[in-house]
Amino acid sequence: MEDCIFCKIVREEIPCYKTYEDENVIAFLDILPLSKGHTLVVPKKHFKDILEISDEELCTTMKALKKITDHIQRIYKPEGIVIRQNNGEKAGQSVFHIHFHIKPVYNGTTVVSEVNHRREYSKEEMESIVKDLNMLN
Ligand code: AMP
Ligand code: ZN
Repeated sequence: MEDCIFCKIVREEIPCYKTYEDENVIAFLDILPLSKGHTLVVPKKHFKDILEISDEELCTTMKALKKITDHIQRIYKPEGIVIRQNNGEKAGQSVFHIHFHIKPVYNGTTVVSEVNHRREYSKEEMESIVKDLNMLN
């Protein structure tokens, strides 16, 4: 895609701190990292988000994600790792070329918790939602 910043990185029109590349996927350091080793894993083909990407491209990207995550764990030995992927502006997506964040978490890394924003739903609400979303039969 012409104007997409990650497509430009794939085409090497703008620089990045690349750590991984194969035929279908690249990974590079986030320009504004949460922590040391914060990496973005990006399919080379342009898809906007999880709703647009094909199953095949997603699986290929996930395999690379796993490999890169293992590598970061081995090298930096963080206490934990957050994998995050935002879809849509309201969900925090700012680059509209699908990408997965690998965020190593160390002692002292601030991870924003959503726990205070959760609430219990009533039994009736849960039953209504499970009826709406049931894919079992
Ligand atoms: P999201 O908000 O999930 O769409 O994530 C986009 C991420 O891309 C942000 O964490 C940005 O810091 C990062 N980012 C934006 N431009 C660049 C760039 N040129 N190189 C590396 N990371 C970038
Ligand atoms: Zn793109």
